Amino acid sequence: MKPDADLGAGSFADLALRPELVTVLTGLGYEEPTPIQREAIPPLLEGRDLVGQAATGTGKTAAFALPLLQRLPEGQRSKHPVALVLTPTRELAVQVAEAITRYGVALGARVLAVYGGQPITAQLRVLQKGVDVVVATPGRALDHLNRGSLKLDDLQVVVLDEADEMFDMGFADEIEAILGAVPSQRQTVLFSATMPPKIDRMSKRHLSNPVRIQIEREKAPAGEAPRVTQTGHLVLRANKPAALARILDMQQPSAAIVFCRTREEVDELTETLKARSYRAEPLHGGMSQEQRDRVMNRLRNGTADLLIATDVAARGLDVDHLTHVVNYNVPSAPESYVHRIGRVGRAGREGVAITLAEPRERRMLEAIERLTGQKIPLEKVPSRADLLASRLAVTRQALVEVLESGDVEGVRAMVEELSASFSPKQVALAATALAHRAAAPADEEDIPEVTSKPVRPVRDDLPRTSTKAERPARKASKAGTAKLYIGAGRATGVRPQDLVGAIAGESHLTGKDIGGIEITERFSLVEVPETEIDTVIKALRSSVIKGRKAIIRRDRDS
Ligand code: AMP
Repeated sequence: MKPDADLGAGSFADLALRPELVTVLTGLGYEEPTPIQREAIPPLLEGRDLVGQAATGTGKTAAFALPLLQRLPEGQRSKHPVALVLTPTRELAVQVAEAITRYGVALGARVLAVYGGQPITAQLRVLQKGVDVVVATPGRALDHLNRGSLKLDDLQVVVLDEADEMFDMGFADEIEAILGAVPSQRQTVLFSATMPPKIDRMSKRHLSNPVRIQIEREKAPAGEAPRVTQTGHLVLRANKPAALARILDMQQPSAAIVFCRTREEVDELTETLKARSYRAEPLHGGMSQEQRDRVMNRLRNGTADLLIATDVAARGLDVDHLTHVVNYNVPSAPESYVHRIGRVGRAGREGVAITLAEPRERRMLEAIERLTGQKIPLEKVPSRADLLASRLAVTRQALVEVLESGDVEGVRAMVEELSASFSPKQVALAATALAHRAAAPADEEDIPEVTSKPVRPVRDDLPRTSTKAERPARKASKAGTAKLYIGAGRATGVRPQDLVGAIAGESHLTGKDIGGIEITERFSLVEVPETEIDTVIKALRSSVIKGRKAIIRRDRDS
């Protein structure tokens, strides 16, 4: 069977894009357009102006990049750019320029990122040689316009990317000046995550009869959002494989599906996980039906427990024993998040949905929360100490089971012989240490924590000011007391009485023994007597706070 044959309608080929562009997208492993691409590309190809409300992570870059690349002439090209893309920061300028270069590789697109802080002479040289697309921060773009090094005579398209950010950073005047200098017969495209009135006013002034697109238009019908424990983790891209492995080790899912964006990502992640001894199988639209059936059988008969898949390939998939859904990236549309997590938590069973988000994808996460009306609490990736503690609980449980069943045949004689030289306690300690070491995780580094607040970008033409560390200064604990860290906070609705209730209910402490309580957005700190902290940690480990299992440990800062 031909790959992709039964994977549903709505491909890039249906969007009337040039074959060179479609080939590149297939090569990149993109299986289908994201919702913003499906809606924005056709009107943009017709030459319409467009206002799109979409955040990073929706695939908006390709939504405006592909139509502007479509305009590049086949033969001789002018020295002056066909398209100008304005972005709020140098980081985004570089990222967008890289994306346009990638999408335009088969067309030989000449793309230049232009931003402050970089020597202007290098930019002048490239502009002088000729470019097709300029991606610029507004300050530097205006600078080049004033010098005459950026000529807009042949410009056909202007894109304002992340317009709200550009306004917030004080670029309104520069944008007005640039839009006043571009030919009036151009296409203007504006993308913004939010639509404050000032952006609306600007679009009325500079865009002509624009198509309006908003990706979170659909509202999930009330009560339809599945009952699933949802958690998010902010992780830098480079740490994602390690973070996923740590989370899987902690969660021990019996059957999980991990969603990726592209075929390449599926293949790469499957290989990485296999190399770490996980039983992972890939599933994407580039595989034949026979290959996909084989993978599904492995999942059903338990020879695999992780399915690494793209949305397209997982569509219509029927696995009824899935316990976990992992989003390796924030999905490109809030609706697809709802579809994905709907695969677990069926028929009254418990389901877990975990989302790895890069800091820049936070807005998408918030859009999902608005759509589902449910919070996705952000938690730290479990540390090595958390994992060790949970493994210890597993070892303990296994020991209790053997003790209760009395099934110790085969080792009795050896233990009796050892008892002649060692005390029973020494033998028990050594045996337990052996069992625990076998279950302990590899000696890995901890995964660095990422700040949960988006760092406000700074204008690249202004001196940078230092940003304060996010973590609040904590009070030291009183003498004789120690602080308990509980990985649940305001975001999950935790109140002081819930913490006192859980501690008093699970341990022999009473409300009087519990000292100060500090509740932050994501975690809580509770003062307990130093002599009791280990007992309390043990007692709380299997308890549930506000309906969820939370990480419990000694606070590292106390
Ligand atoms: P953006 O919202 O433009 O920053 O894109 C987010 C990410 O999605 C980028 O890593 C893109 O490479 C990726 N992406 C964009 N369009 C698609 C698509 N149709 N299929 C899979 N991945 C995509």
